[in-house]
Amino acid sequence: MLHLINLPITDAFYYLSLNQEIPLQPTLPIRKIKFYGPNENATIIGDIGYITIRGNHERSLENQLGKLIKSKIKHNQRPDYQSLKDNFDKVIIATGDARTTKKLDQWQHTDVSVKIIGATIEGKFEPTTVKMWLNHNLAPQGYAYLLPFGHKLASLAIATLHDTVNFKELWNNLLEELNFEFKIKDTFQIDHYEIGRPKTNEFNNTYLIGQAGGFIMPFLGFGQFSSIESGILVKKAITEDKNYDILTKNLKNDYQNSYKLRKIIGGMSNKQYDKLVKSLNNKTVKKMFLQRKINITKLIGWLSSPFTWLT
Ligand SMILES: Cc1cc2nc3c(=O)[nH]c(=O)nc-3n(C[C@H](O)[C@H](O)[C@H](O)COP(=O)(O)OP(=O)(O)OC[C@H]3O[C@@H](n4cnc5c(N)ncnc54)[C@H](O)[C@@H]3O)c2cc1C
Repeated sequence: MLHLINLPITDAFYYLSLNQEIPLQPTLPIRKIKFYGPNENATIIGDIGYITIRGNHERSLENQLGKLIKSKIKHNQRPDYQSLKDNFDKVIIATGDARTTKKLDQWQHTDVSVKIIGATIEGKFEPTTVKMWLNHNLAPQGYAYLLPFGHKLASLAIATLHDTVNFKELWNNLLEELNFEFKIKDTFQIDHYEIGRPKTNEFNNTYLIGQAGGFIMPFLGFGQFSSIESGILVKKAITEDKNYDILTKNLKNDYQNSYKLRKIIGGMSNKQYDKLVKSLNNKTVKKMFLQRKINITKLIGWLSSPFTWLT
């Protein structure tokens, strides 16, 4: 979770803990981020964001959230929407994908369909250092990243458009980029990771939150914070009898800005990636990054300006 992504909220975990009484803990802080363009690189050091763990791990976000609620969680169920809808006052769909929303004919459009291929690798890592590659030879119109889980394990992945054909070649190119010793422990592939929007977020007695509700931000495909935020807003809609579609207006604006940014950055050439990465070595840009003074709207304006030196 990069601080810059959720602005004007400058620290998602402080905000959730202090403003929303949802005390979650990240796994590690991100203290250093290394950006690699095709030829240039840049390092930013400071309070950049957090690494979180997902899934079955004791400290995963879902396990922490599970411990905060009093209701009993029923695992391994196959809930039927029609019967939930008929038997409960309210139904919240939070299935983490577009499938249920599509089945209910409430999905409007998929803006980006992403393929993610990755691996858990063993090696020696700086636990608070994240690496990110912007390079069409590794991740066309996307990015590749290395995210440590500690000193010895890290996740390495390429997230790019689903239609990309030469995945094996891209993966081999990325492995060649790694100038340290490592061993691949296991690999994974996620197909058709759909980023898009529903027709509405509220219909009948039903609410769509998280990825099922289109609250995943297209730029990097991040949605941990926005998904939790949509859950907070659905609570407000239900308990205060407010319109959920209106409450989620800011999140929808964030989505549109994030989509614009994805299109701008995805449309850049490798030469422009190098210029962009090089700019991150500039003292003023570094300062704005660390002081969280660049928000997505400003970044879009700057990158779309006909006078920008990136062109
Ligand atoms: C490889 C990868 C890396 C990512 N990295 C980041 C990152 O660094 N930062 C970030 O912000 N975001 C990241 N994301 C995106 C982030 O994971 C999602 O945006 C976020 O988890 C969406 O939250 P959600 O609650 O909608 O869905 P999820 O977190 O996916 O939760 C959905 C839950 O619903 C359950 N479920 C599914 N169907 C049913 C059903 N029919 N009945 C009952 N339960 C069901 C699932 O088992 C799951 O537990 C990443 C995604 C991927 C795939």
